[in-house]
Amino acid sequence: MDLSLNEEHRALRESVRRFVEDTVNPVWQEIDRTDRLPAAVLDGAREMGLFGMAIPPEYGGLGFGVLQKALVHEMLGRGPWGLASYISVHTGIGCTGLVLFGSEEQKRHYLPKMATGEWLGCFGLTEPQSGSDAGNMQTRARRVGDDWVLDGQKVFITNAPYAHHCMVFARADDGITAFLVDTDNPGFKIGQIFETLGHQGSAICELSLEDCRVPAFAVVGEVGRGFDIAKRVLAEGRTMLGARSVGSGQKALELALEYGESRQTFGKPLLDHQALAFRVAQMATRTDAARGLVYRSAWLLDQGKSAVRESSTAKLFAGEAVWQTVDDAIQMLGGYGYIRGEYMLERIWRDSRVVRVYDGSSEVQQIVITQRLRKGEVESAW
Ligand SMILES: Cc1cc2nc3c(=O)[nH]c(=O)nc-3n(C[C@H](O)[C@H](O)[C@H](O)COP(=O)(O)OP(=O)(O)OC[C@H]3O[C@@H](n4cnc5c(N)ncnc54)[C@H](O)[C@@H]3O)c2cc1C
Repeated sequence: MDLSLNEEHRALRESVRRFVEDTVNPVWQEIDRTDRLPAAVLDGAREMGLFGMAIPPEYGGLGFGVLQKALVHEMLGRGPWGLASYISVHTGIGCTGLVLFGSEEQKRHYLPKMATGEWLGCFGLTEPQSGSDAGNMQTRARRVGDDWVLDGQKVFITNAPYAHHCMVFARADDGITAFLVDTDNPGFKIGQIFETLGHQGSAICELSLEDCRVPAFAVVGEVGRGFDIAKRVLAEGRTMLGARSVGSGQKALELALEYGESRQTFGKPLLDHQALAFRVAQMATRTDAARGLVYRSAWLLDQGKSAVRESSTAKLFAGEAVWQTVDDAIQMLGGYGYIRGEYMLERIWRDSRVVRVYDGSSEVQQIVITQRLRKGEVESAW
């Protein structure tokens, strides 16, 4: 059994780490204050090809496998979640459905401009009355001649204010169906853009679809099979959010170690006090365990397995682990840990809180895991 990353993986991880540490983290306070991603940051991500990482080379992207994407997301997790979210919604839930289930014509139309970042994608599943219970959506799709007309409300849709198009899920007579809706469609309206606890730099908003007419070309995959597309896209997204959480946990650990060596109390560095030495050991152990679960899930997805149980396990554990780890790191900094805009940890704390809520909350992941256990997957397919 060989668990090591190859040279290519290491080089990829290192280049994204350098980008985050040299270009993004120096401006984290500006991003936090202005709620905007500076042009230099977006240009840097574009130059590295990150907007096209999930898109096959024949459409102009890098064609990364799942483990490669997870490594990128892990490194993006070392920086502000606004950037990570901006990129991951576009390359993940905004793109995977199209890559896996889109027609050749749809791919040729959308993917080349998505690969360069010129066109940004987003994903409209959640509605005001259906989040965890997404299958209960109320948005309707009716056939009118060769076209479809969509009506309904969506909420918390990341990137929508900046996006070129959105994969919208709506209930047709034959079941939930996925549609690609361009955001300049007159029936596609952006509602309230929310202020959020963290995630500064990416925007989440309400959408309303009012008599929103789209051609048959807009249907992704089969009519009535849209919920399968959503579930496949979300399974991979969970692994990526696990990876981002690992990156944030690792960053928090490093900040705590640095502070724990330099700050003295009772005549010695904090880390010479056994209670705090044990704390960093727990932080490192949790982060390592989460990384193992994330890489396992990514590896299984790369083998063509569905990895539903494993991606939920990775997201559940990594999401809960980063929360505990960042909290421990803030505790290590004492009063300084609570100061806003200075030490980065409070920003990681605000940012990472959301991982336990979105793309299937921690409760939803436990529901999914137990369903798989009861279906006979008592041991992982690994
Ligand atoms: C920053 C951010 C970005 C987002 N981006 C997107 C996006 O791009 N696209 C998109 O479609 N959606 C997006 N969402 C929506 C997100 O996925 C939902 O908020 C999430 O699925 C939870 O749904 P909800 O908010 O309706 O909560 P609810 O489903 O109402 O749940 C409320 C609480 O009850 C718990 N709960 C619900 N049912 C059960 C149960 N059966 N057993 C135990 N506990 C339960 C939940 O875990 C949660 O804690 C985003 C949300 C946020 C905050």
